[in-house]
Amino acid sequence: MVKSSVLGYPRIGADREWKKALEAFWSGRLEEQDFRSQLQNIRLGHLRKQQEKGIDLIPVNDFSYYDHILDTAAMFGIIPSRFSYTGGAVPLSVYYGVARGTEGAAASEMTKWFNTNYHYIVPELSGASPVLTENKPLEAYREAKEKLGIEGKPVIVGPLTFLKLSKGYAASETDAWLDKLLPLYVQLLQELAAEGVQWVQVDEPILVTKLSDEDVQRLKHIYETFAAAVPGLNLMLQTYFESVERYSDIVKLPVKGIGLDFVHGYDGNLNSIQTIGYPQDKVLGAGVIDGRGIWKASLTGKLELLKELAKAVPADRLIVQSSCSLLHVPVTVERETKLTSDLKGALAFADEKLNELVLLTKAFSSKEAVQGELEQYDRAIQTLQQSAERNRSEVQTAVAAFSSQDPVRSAPFAERYAAQQAKWQLPLFPTTTIGSFPQSAEVRKARQLWRKGEWNDKQYAEFIREQIDTWIKIQEEIGIDVLVHGEFERTDMVEFFGEKLAGFAFTQNGWVQSYGSRCVKPPVIYGDVAFIGEMTVEETKYAQSQTSHPVKGMLTGPITIMNWSFVREDIPREQIAYQLAYALRQEVEALEKAGIGMIQVDEPAVREGLPLKESEQADYLAWAVKAFRIATCTVQKTTQIHTHMCYCEFHDMIDSIEAMDADVISIETSRSHGELIHSFELNTYKLGIGLGVYDIHSPRIPSVEEMTGMIERALRVLDPKLFWINPDCGLKTRGLEETVASLRNMVEATKTARAKYEQSAAK
Ligand code: GLN
Ligand code: ZN
Repeated sequence: MVKSSVLGYPRIGADREWKKALEAFWSGRLEEQDFRSQLQNIRLGHLRKQQEKGIDLIPVNDFSYYDHILDTAAMFGIIPSRFSYTGGAVPLSVYYGVARGTEGAAASEMTKWFNTNYHYIVPELSGASPVLTENKPLEAYREAKEKLGIEGKPVIVGPLTFLKLSKGYAASETDAWLDKLLPLYVQLLQELAAEGVQWVQVDEPILVTKLSDEDVQRLKHIYETFAAAVPGLNLMLQTYFESVERYSDIVKLPVKGIGLDFVHGYDGNLNSIQTIGYPQDKVLGAGVIDGRGIWKASLTGKLELLKELAKAVPADRLIVQSSCSLLHVPVTVERETKLTSDLKGALAFADEKLNELVLLTKAFSSKEAVQGELEQYDRAIQTLQQSAERNRSEVQTAVAAFSSQDPVRSAPFAERYAAQQAKWQLPLFPTTTIGSFPQSAEVRKARQLWRKGEWNDKQYAEFIREQIDTWIKIQEEIGIDVLVHGEFERTDMVEFFGEKLAGFAFTQNGWVQSYGSRCVKPPVIYGDVAFIGEMTVEETKYAQSQTSHPVKGMLTGPITIMNWSFVREDIPREQIAYQLAYALRQEVEALEKAGIGMIQVDEPAVREGLPLKESEQADYLAWAVKAFRIATCTVQKTTQIHTHMCYCEFHDMIDSIEAMDADVISIETSRSHGELIHSFELNTYKLGIGLGVYDIHSPRIPSVEEMTGMIERALRVLDPKLFWINPDCGLKTRGLEETVASLRNMVEATKTARAKYEQSAAK
């Protein structure tokens, strides 16, 4: 009989009770004892659910108090010295200190978990002397067994992945670190074996990235060591998010089973199995149910895939799995009451995926027994497929035409630059901001009142106008050159647009963990995206009517909207991007028509969508750039297109940024100032560019001198005629006073820089 297996279950709970418990504990509203018991209840609830649904291999130790990479570091006592940890099991205060920072010690860095929107805490190895402080997987295994009679499958992060995701050591020290960690892993596994554990899932997602020959040697060393130390323990070497690199080497490792992703790594993994074969002594964990997408699987199609795999692996060595942990999808569709039945019928979140796994294992042994259910799945998928929302011919025709078009502005940059200079008469080093101004308690309150219906549209619109008035005056008084309206009407930069475009749906409870207790509720792009009315014109036009300075219109770009949403899977992402771009183009044109002569299209999330496989990156960047140009290319040459990027390092994609052909880009630099500046030394950037001169993530007010320094350094590598001055990002999370003070200093620094530059030019 084939078995079903889950790689991990969401922690947050259907009601985000996990998040609420964490936050109550942090704020002191919950005692540690009660907190621990609340979390245990949540954890057991999740296990019970998987048990009741009939999952064969239920993961334990996938649960966390914050993040599983932090758990692994803490389990090995790897705690940065600034937290004055003195050994033994890491206390919660230290654990959360590392995650969130304390009075005296900055939090550890957090970063994206591969190409997902989950963020993990980066372990800092420098100075650490690792020991096994506690055997967390063993505790989790015992708990599941004692409380629920579950024969759990402990999940651990494999040594190579753990090392590769850590920092604080030189590449040359990798093997030395491995030597320190391996004995701890061995001890941990031996204790599990002694307890009678049957399967251990060793997560090594790093195996889907490029591996050097040395890495392959390391893998051999790791898994040979394990095989020798715990010969009777079944290790499932688990990979996900893409197909494995070095398949032939990996399948030779002495483990009992290998878990492969047949959703996100479908082509590569299937091809490897078909051409190279699969070892006859190993179990194959077939990740066929998507752990990251939110759509129902076509179970008939999945069944065929399983049958195909069964040609290479006998059925008794096949395990039907989720492609990765279900951490990346919301908990359940059941509680959604506002979605259309066509849409709801086609969705599958974590709990529904459990059903799919069980159904699929049943179907594998007897298709007839579940024939009716399989047909229901196909019908649900088809119903949505045939809905009017997925068949907007006007959008489809327009987008189809883009495939053979190269969207370009009517004039090259040099000509646009001259025309725009003549029109706007901007000073040297124009100053501007990124779009949003502080979303004060008052602003949030007003939005709540309006959403609850206590304020009518008119009252709310008036309130927004007052905010705009206030901030137009502030910007004028500070002496900023290019103004913004402040984005007071927006909660977040994707939801705001999603609510005004066709093709989007919003769940009530579709939360997923982003980092720590922070959850996000991404919009769902389920249909063809269509422009159905102006989205930003009213506020922008109003702001422009209040000042003689130019006001920049402010839109979120197609790639960012797409990367921060759950998207349909029946058409390629490229097509979704073009649909969004086409809709945004209509907004850009509407703004221009309303007299807005500068329009910013933010694309902070371009980098996030970069495929893990290097071989696929160029193609992605090409269509991402094209989408931006579709959205922005139809304006007159005097209309100035801006863009903005932040959140990560851009130094290795300057070519793509340049290809977007925005007249001006404002880019975050505080995180990677050195590298970014360096990349401009190597390549001259030929369009308008503002390097952020101050970090907006902290309330600290940067001094004039500090910013003058930043400006001078940037001017060594950038053309002064193209140089703009702005903060790193939007100011919505900042307070009023610090914002005004910082911007005043920024303008002061600009004046200094202008005077210096003009002086030296006169010489
Ligand atoms: N215009 C947006 C703002 O200022 C940009 C936000 C972002 O880049 N993340 O808030
Ligand atoms: Zn930004």
